Amino acid sequence: MTLHGRKVRTMRIQSLNPVLLILALSACGPGASPISPTVPAQTMDPAPPQNSSTQTYSATCRSNDPDLQCLGLKVVSFQNESGIPVLKESETLKLIEEMNQVWKPCKIAFQLEKYEAIHPESQGLPYSPDWKRDSDTIRARFDENNRFLIVAVGPWTNATIAVAQMPGNGPFGILVSEKYAKNAYTVGHELGHYQGLYHLRNKRNLMNSYIGPFTSDLGSGQCSFARKTNLKHWRKMLRGPTDVL
Ligand SMILES: [Zn+2]
Repeated sequence: MTLHGRKVRTMRIQSLNPVLLILALSACGPGASPISPTVPAQTMDPAPPQNSSTQTYSATCRSNDPDLQCLGLKVVSFQNESGIPVLKESETLKLIEEMNQVWKPCKIAFQLEKYEAIHPESQGLPYSPDWKRDSDTIRARFDENNRFLIVAVGPWTNATIAVAQMPGNGPFGILVSEKYAKNAYTVGHELGHYQGLYHLRNKRNLMNSYIGPFTSDLGSGQCSFARKTNLKHWRKMLRGPTDVL
C-alpha cells in the first residue's frame, strides 16, 4: 500500500511522542496530491468530546435547510465471540449525534440508515483484522454506493487505530478499532478524510494527525472543501428532505 506514491510506514505509538507523529504523517498534509489511498489516523488516548452547543441534530438529519448537507451512513459492527458488538446501535446513534456537533460548523450532518452487527468469522473475516491486509476486503464486502461506510472492528495491536479511503478509487469505507469506535473525534476525523480533507498541523483542528481532547475545530476552508467533495464525489450519499430511502 502506498501513500502519495510512497510506502506507508507503520509507527509504534509507544515509542513516539505526538510531535514525531505529526512530522511522520506530514505526507498527508494540505497541498498533497488529491489522489490519495488509505490514510492512517494515529491517535493517542483521546478524551471524549464535550458538546458545547445545546442544539443537536437528531439521528435523522434531513432538513428543509437547503444549505445543510445530510449524508447517509451505514455502520457495521463486528461482534466478539460472546456476541457483544464493538459498537452497539444505541452507541452508534450517540456517536453520530456527537459527530454532528463536530461537523455542525460546516453545515454537514450524518444519519444512520443501516446498522448491522455481524459475527466476522461467519463471513470469513477476522475479528481483529490486519488493516493493511484486510481493509479492502472488508470494505468491498460492506460498501454500498449510496452510503458512507463505517466498520467497527476488534482491537488492533499496532499504532494505527483507524483508516479511511479517500475519494478516488474504492472500495470505500472507514475501519476503526474497538478502543476508538465510540470517539466522535476519531471517527469524525476519518469522515474528514472521506470528504477529501488531509491532515493539518493546527493542534486544535479535527484533521490534526494527533487526535486528542481538543482536536475539534474545522475551518471555513475545510468546510468549503468537504462540501465541494460531497457534491463532486458523494451525491448519492446526500439526502434531501423528501428522499425516500
Ligand atoms: Zn488522518
